[in-house]
Amino acid sequence: MTFQTASAQIFHINKVNCNLSAADIALLNRIARFEAGFYNDIFGTQKNDSVTVDINIYGKQKEYNVVQKDAMNTTFIDGFYSPRDDRIYLYKSDVYMKTLFHETSHKILGNNFRNPPQWLNEGIATLLGYLEETPGTNKIVYIPQRVYIRQVRDSIKANRKYLENYFRYKTTDWYDEVKRPMLYATAYCIVYFFINIDRDYLEPTLNLMKQGYSTPMAIQKIFGGFDKFNQRFYDFYTAGAGSVSSTN
Ligand SMILES: [Zn+2]
Repeated sequence: MTFQTASAQIFHINKVNCNLSAADIALLNRIARFEAGFYNDIFGTQKNDSVTVDINIYGKQKEYNVVQKDAMNTTFIDGFYSPRDDRIYLYKSDVYMKTLFHETSHKILGNNFRNPPQWLNEGIATLLGYLEETPGTNKIVYIPQRVYIRQVRDSIKANRKYLENYFRYKTTDWYDEVKRPMLYATAYCIVYFFINIDRDYLEPTLNLMKQGYSTPMAIQKIFGGFDKFNQRFYDFYTAGAGSVSSTN
């Protein structure tokens, strides 16, 4: 079948004591094509059409945990992308598909932007980790993460300098289990804001960042001031489309 040939082009799956259903593999490939298209769009390229993704997937948690502990000395997550090996490692948990959507994003971003800022890497991976296919139509949609949106809305209402402070966090903070939830929620909301409101601003902002500009400096240049970005972000989450987070 042509479809299975296309599927094989994206993923090279190394199964360790487990099996993946044909339905899961087919969905995984449709999501990966969506992700590749997303990255083509925001980086103004076609290069992700030919992306391939190498995966080791483990049926036994103990076997997976050994791999993760070797790689990053932690065991509190179920999957990761190793830029060094250019390979995703994951445990086949009950929600392994979501983890795989997330890690696939890290792999494809690395194809476009080496050493991206953590907020960008995790923000997009979180957005794409919650993709879903609507039954029957095979249409892939972003599922808004209302808990994250509410958390960030409350934070910016309480502190107008919230975003400015956010970009001062360091990479090591992302490994702090207390800070992680807030860092991920905010990263997600920045990406969600861009794709809903200022999608056209994302590509030039990313281009400056790739040239070495810090995120606040790139934003300042593209939006004509960090305060302008801050205000648009605030309006979106407190009064605009991003504020209707309690419905649906
Ligand atoms: Zn991640």
